[in-house]
Amino acid sequence: MDDCIFCKIVSGDIPCHTIYEDDEYLGFLDIRPVSKGHCLLIPKKHFETFLDLPVEMMGGFTAALRKVTEAVVKATTCDGVNIGLNVNKAAGQEVFHVHHHVIPRFEGDGLSQWARNTYDAGEDLILREKISSFLKEE
Ligand code: AMP
Repeated sequence: MDDCIFCKIVSGDIPCHTIYEDDEYLGFLDIRPVSKGHCLLIPKKHFETFLDLPVEMMGGFTAALRKVTEAVVKATTCDGVNIGLNVNKAAGQEVFHVHHHVIPRFEGDGLSQWARNTYDAGEDLILREKISSFLKEE
């Protein structure tokens, strides 16, 4: 994709600090880290979102994610990790080339977690039915 910043990183047109590379995936430091050691992992091929990534690639993507996460934990000696993947603008996706975030977390680092919500009466049952019905269709 000509106008994709991560495709330009894959092609070498834009520099990055590579931390992992195999035939299909590339890992590099996020340029604006949430915490130090924050890495991104992308497929080298362009897919806009997680939902566009072929199912056949999910296993390889997750295996590479595991390797990157283990290395980040060892390198930063962090106490925990947030692994995140934003799907679409409403969820905070800014770069439309699917990527996992691997964010080292430290006890008392002060980073906020997501705010939690509650269900109105019966709302949870309706959503359970609705979501599981789409899974039964497969
Ligand atoms: P998202 O909001 O999930 O799309 O995340 C996109 C991430 O890409 C952000 O955390 C940015 O800091 C990061 N980013 C954007 N451009 C670059 C770049 N040239 N090198 C490394 N990370 C980048």
